[in-house]
Amino acid sequence: MQYIAPLAKLIEHFRALPGIGSKTAVRLAYHVLDMDAVQAKALAEAIIEAKEKIGYCNTCFNLSDRNPCQICASDARDHSVICVVEQPQDVAAMERMREFKGVYHVLHGALSPLEGVGPEDIRIKELLNRLYDSDVKEVIMATNPNVEGEATAMYIAKLLKPAGIKVTRIAHGLPVGGDLEYADEVTLSKAMENRREI
Ligand SMILES: [Zn+2]
Repeated sequence: MQYIAPLAKLIEHFRALPGIGSKTAVRLAYHVLDMDAVQAKALAEAIIEAKEKIGYCNTCFNLSDRNPCQICASDARDHSVICVVEQPQDVAAMERMREFKGVYHVLHGALSPLEGVGPEDIRIKELLNRLYDSDVKEVIMATNPNVEGEATAMYIAKLLKPAGIKVTRIAHGLPVGGDLEYADEVTLSKAMENRREI
């Protein structure tokens, strides 16, 4: 079916989003057309504002509207413990737990030879720079409990061992193959509590 040009464009943009198939893209586009002008403008402006105001913290690489981010800048956090996660969503999951008082490092991915993701494609170098000449005592590897997450944890542990930094891995109990961001607080809290040195 041929859509008039502006509608076709809107559908294309929705279809490019993760988890949105063709049918849903069409439904969303028609929904936008059904909105009144004020609503539609508010949606468009929210997208623009989020893109303009949110960037990466230069220390932990989490999303933030300031630099350093609120967590990195906080005196109430323990800066000698760094929890390494794959995505900003994982920081949000950990923060929902309200138990972890350390700071974070967001890798923005995990090592995956199959998909051509190597160490230089994620923020490992930035983690090493951050640890150099610091008083960090423990690095907790909280990458996802799947093949890529495990490989990433092991790779980083190997790099940090010679520097005498304690590296721990969150415990299993998280659903294997699952994503950290979808773990409930109790599971996540248990996984952190039962972390072991690697
Ligand atoms: Zn930060």
